Amino acid sequence: MSTSLNRRTWLKSGALLAAGFGTGAAMGFPSLAKAGTVSHLSTTAIPSTNMAEVLAKLPKMQARLTSNENPYGPSQKAKEALIGAIEDSFRYPREKIKALQEAIAEEEGVAVENILLGAGSSELLMAAALRYAAKGSSILSADPTYNSLIRTAVNHGSGWIKVPLTADYSHDLEAMEKQVNDDISLVYIVNPNNPTGTITNSDKLRVFCDRVTVKKPVFIDEAYMDYVQNPKQQSMVDCVQRGKDVIVARTFSKVHGFAGLRVGYVVALPETIKALNQYTNGRGNISATSASAALASLHDKEFVADCVMKNQETKDFLYTVLKNQGYTPLDSHTNFVMFPIKMRGERFTQEMLKRGVGLRSWEFYGQQWCRVSLGTMEDMELFASAFGQIS
Ligand code: PLP
Repeated sequence: MSTSLNRRTWLKSGALLAAGFGTGAAMGFPSLAKAGTVSHLSTTAIPSTNMAEVLAKLPKMQARLTSNENPYGPSQKAKEALIGAIEDSFRYPREKIKALQEAIAEEEGVAVENILLGAGSSELLMAAALRYAAKGSSILSADPTYNSLIRTAVNHGSGWIKVPLTADYSHDLEAMEKQVNDDISLVYIVNPNNPTGTITNSDKLRVFCDRVTVKKPVFIDEAYMDYVQNPKQQSMVDCVQRGKDVIVARTFSKVHGFAGLRVGYVVALPETIKALNQYTNGRGNISATSASAALASLHDKEFVADCVMKNQETKDFLYTVLKNQGYTPLDSHTNFVMFPIKMRGERFTQEMLKRGVGLRSWEFYGQQWCRVSLGTMEDMELFASAFGQIS
């Protein structure tokens, strides 16, 4: 399916939505769509596949391309630190967490009071959701985007105001700014975005943050920021340095390969950190082993650069496979790629899974999509072979 066709379908679905049709609830999507505030701008972005159900029924994955993990991690240095920390792991991890917090603060160019650690960034997304959820107020975000913070907020009484992405699948900052009013409790932006993998221009986003934080806090989820060019320049941490009420979330789950070790953090103003900390298990709910490994990985720049390079190689390979078969992937700045598919997402994921390849499907803008994480080259070759049989 061509991109122009996609755009037409999208615009058509936008017109239907403007007329009050096709809301998540009307399309039969469960709790999130029903509970959230559905604005006239909204589309719906609930993954169309229930992975738990699919996995229970189908054969084991040979290539696990479902969750944007780093197939090369953790680094050798992180593993050694992990093992080294076992010896005194009978102690509570205070010192290890303090050392990690100090190292992250230095790396980010902020004070330790600006850092809150969590067992993965999910813990901190949940803290933010609980902090800002309130009946009568809403979270403002793009649609589609990563919905864990939004889901928690909606489950605690919040509404959800959704704004479609622009034609190049970046955040529509102008449209979002227009939606910021007294009823918005938090603006949530994922950059680069998940599930689309696309990026929003950092200069424009910085201006947006500076303007919007005069009224409301802005949460920037930078889970995939390590994969972009010049992450330091594209990150919104400098907004915090300049005293803006911006909360930047980062995770070790992606480029550092820590998805199973669970380490994440936010950078924010000290008063915001204190407020968020009310909703966590204390200053860093991380094991001593994971904190030690994260400290080693933080300084392992060579490992990170190597993973980014391999990620680019597999991405280039995947683009070639998709384009040779007439598919148009979105421009990914992450370790996953989104592309429109020609059959129902559920059927597509099941057919791929039968061939040993786990991935995920979405439905938005009137189109079925596949999101495939970038695995090793071997994984991607398996993807290519399975895809060739069913595309
Ligand atoms: N934010 C985004 C955009 C993600 O895609 C993910 C996980 O895939 C997370 C946050 C949560 O990551 P973790 O809890 O592993 O840090």
